[in-house]
Amino acid sequence: MTSTCHQLLDATIQHLEDLKSRGVRHVAVAPETLRALAQPPAGKSQVANFKSPASGAPAGPARTEFQKRAGSGTGAPQPVAEQPSLLALPGETVQSPPVDPPAKAAAFAALRERALACVKCPHLASSRKNVVFGVGSIDAQLMFVGEAPGADEDERAEPFVGKAGQLLTKIIQATGLQRADVYIGNILKCRPDTPGQSAGNRKPTADEMATCIPYLHEQIDLIRPKVVVALGATAVEGLLGKTLGITKLRGTWKTYRGIPLMPTYHPAYLLRNQAMSEKRKVWEDMLAVMEKLGMTISEKQRNYFLKG
Ligand code: URA
Repeated sequence: MTSTCHQLLDATIQHLEDLKSRGVRHVAVAPETLRALAQPPAGKSQVANFKSPASGAPAGPARTEFQKRAGSGTGAPQPVAEQPSLLALPGETVQSPPVDPPAKAAAFAALRERALACVKCPHLASSRKNVVFGVGSIDAQLMFVGEAPGADEDERAEPFVGKAGQLLTKIIQATGLQRADVYIGNILKCRPDTPGQSAGNRKPTADEMATCIPYLHEQIDLIRPKVVVALGATAVEGLLGKTLGITKLRGTWKTYRGIPLMPTYHPAYLLRNQAMSEKRKVWEDMLAVMEKLGMTISEKQRNYFLKG
């Protein structure tokens, strides 16, 4: 899809979201327009592929019902019946046109090449060691979105590999999944520069976010996860625009272009605040995500981070 198409699509979705927030529940669309919109783009089919967790995953059942239904590890991925579609009004799902796996992989690789060569933010292009595009399965049903790469991520060209990333990996594993089962990306693909400072991070600016976000939109459009988890306030702001603070938002389902989105605390926050109650909040958000995905939840998992 061209960037002009994406801009048009973004503007249309934004308009529909505005209407919905004002209480509008129906829009008039001519039948021929609907028929044209429903035509699948040539050569696309939708697949789901949730791999089974590696043996020894800390908590989860060895192979969840969700994973079985998703056809993971069988070599025969099965179609997902109901997948959020860009044609859906926010919060609604309609049948998606199928995505052909080789075409999807090629489109994703092309997108990656474009991002790796990006110099739209000259100050970041000159300060970065690597563009940190994203990591994981492009067929993932669960996607995590963070803020921006830090020093470790910039060094290794992979998101969430530093201390906060290691905690995110533990959170993922606690659900019974592995990093390779999900997709992990960031609002910004380059590390925010900190001129004159030898260490430290800074929040991306509004300009940097607006410049970089189309890459993430395209990643999500291609992956089409069933659930997006936004890690921290910047991730929520990047995906949904400025709303309430993360303390108010976390734990309540939002919708990003028809996809259920769960805002939760950034793992870096949990590293700064080690209180059991805060860990439990993030874990409750993950339990809600697991439920939404139809994953089996063990009694042990339900009780993580509860006192006593
Ligand atoms: N924090 C983020 O938001 N993203 C990363 O990739 C690493 C740390």
